[in-house]
Amino acid sequence: MRDTAHDHRKLGRELGLFDTDPLIGSGLPYWLPDGAAVRHALEEYIREAERKAGYRHVYSPVLGKRELYEISGHWSHYSDDMFPPMDLGAEQVVLRPSLCPHHAVIYRSRSHSYRELPLRMAELGGMYRSELSGVLGGLTRVRAIQLNDAHIFCTLDQVADEAAAALEMIRRAYEALGITPARYRLSLPGPGGKYVAAPGMWERSAALLTDVLDRSGLPYEAAEGEAAFYGPKIDVQVADGAGRESTLSTVQIDFHQPERFDLHYIGADGAKHRPVMVHRSVIGSVERAVAHLIERHGGAFPAWLAPTQLALLPVSEAQVPDAEAVARRCAELGLRAEVAGPERGTLGARVREARLVPYQAVIGAKEAADGHLAVRLRDGRRLAPRPADGFLAAVGALVAAHRTDLWDEEARQ
Ligand SMILES: [Zn+2]
Repeated sequence: MRDTAHDHRKLGRELGLFDTDPLIGSGLPYWLPDGAAVRHALEEYIREAERKAGYRHVYSPVLGKRELYEISGHWSHYSDDMFPPMDLGAEQVVLRPSLCPHHAVIYRSRSHSYRELPLRMAELGGMYRSELSGVLGGLTRVRAIQLNDAHIFCTLDQVADEAAAALEMIRRAYEALGITPARYRLSLPGPGGKYVAAPGMWERSAALLTDVLDRSGLPYEAAEGEAAFYGPKIDVQVADGAGRESTLSTVQIDFHQPERFDLHYIGADGAKHRPVMVHRSVIGSVERAVAHLIERHGGAFPAWLAPTQLALLPVSEAQVPDAEAVARRCAELGLRAEVAGPERGTLGARVREARLVPYQAVIGAKEAADGHLAVRLRDGRRLAPRPADGFLAAVGALVAAHRTDLWDEEARQ
């Protein structure tokens, strides 16, 4: 029941968040304005959380020469999931299947002292995967992916703390997003998989990640055959309404790519040393994260993510200018408000239409005269009419704090 009611594909279309068109192609969804508003709020949350945690952001191109992926190992271990290369004169370029090689090259472009480590490089960037059309649908299996990615270049001694800090970032993000992990998985190599050969490296990485998980106190299970081709990882699994699991967040330890790209830093001894790369993603791909949020919340997003945060409902035509003035004030405060006037139906019909909007503010003749709003919360609670400015400031504070509760009466008085 819940599975069909909260299918993100159905809801995404009904709510006008995203869609696909055969002319653009399957697995290549486009985002409508309301979906883009959700995505923008999510991306800004991530960038802010990363800035606060000491990450610096970069941009890198979605294309790279075939040689780049031959060095990284993607060409020999991952080419089944990559689009065919494009001929460009004497060269071949590839739509990238991951951001890691670009970040390794960016790291290598400057010399680094041990004093700069851990160096945390983040990017919300595009990557591509040649999924077969048979498995495409909605936002969960797509060919064009926007990944929340980061690579931490650090010493071996710093790996455990960096991995633990990444897990803590994931915990805080899930709290703000109102989502719960289904389980934590220690993903190890398994028989028959395509992995880089370096047995000592695999053991060392697995031991480090096991230690991080044990010290975190989080329950986890080990699973064979789920590692990345270059190393083991911690995967944070989420489940949909039908109990199907997918990976949203990951933390990975990589000794392979620093070797392949010959990365180094200058140590306190003045000599060259090899850094370790920690790959981590807090929300995984933006597409999969939004798909999960749609299903988890049934379209009733936390206020900070909601495409429309306030529905302004003038009782009659006479209050439309007052509602429009409140909407302008909202825009100045960075809040997303929409005026739904009498041309959209009776007040009751407009309240029903706005049922997924966190705050529904009714403006009658008395409210207009007093500069007040009579607010109904999405959960059915009603607030006594109150000055518009104070109310909007309170909503602004809840949104800025990425709170999942809609109102905190005691904190406002
Ligand atoms: Zn990576």
